[in-house]
Amino acid sequence: MKKIVSILVIGLSLTALWGALIIVGASYDTVDEDNPYGEETLVVGVDASQAERNVTPVVTDSLEYWEENSDQHADYPIEYQLDADAEDPDVRIVWVADLEDCDSVSDPAIAGCADLVEDRAPGTALVEVETGLSQEQARETLKHELGHTLGLRHGDAPQDVMSAT
Ligand SMILES: [Zn+2]
Repeated sequence: MKKIVSILVIGLSLTALWGALIIVGASYDTVDEDNPYGEETLVVGVDASQAERNVTPVVTDSLEYWEENSDQHADYPIEYQLDADAEDPDVRIVWVADLEDCDSVSDPAIAGCADLVEDRAPGTALVEVETGLSQEQARETLKHELGHTLGLRHGDAPQDVMSAT
């Protein structure tokens, strides 16, 4: 009888252990461990109420650029879901007359600023782009600032995008 109980206990323990391993495995499986956002698809909100022109082409070009290049340069893949009016986006892009609110990186030379997101993403990573830029300047600025939200610093590759000037 004692032997049967022992076998039963061992069997149940193994079942529980197996279940725990499956749960742990599943949670590690879904997102790259280098990804500070903890999810591969990032929702992007846009506030272009101060912009002088339609910013959608600039935004979609910049997001596409990082969907193609994040894996190589930030070491984790990313997909963006553009939802301009999202209340609680992972990344918020704001057109402003004067840069003011970004926490960590300011780029007055290229008229933008951003939160540098490295170990752990804030609830919403902020990117600001100044109004009054040409379409091409705005595109280069936004690509650069989005690079900071992927943990890239000045001088990191790709250098044509992440140079400070
Ligand atoms: Zn910068």
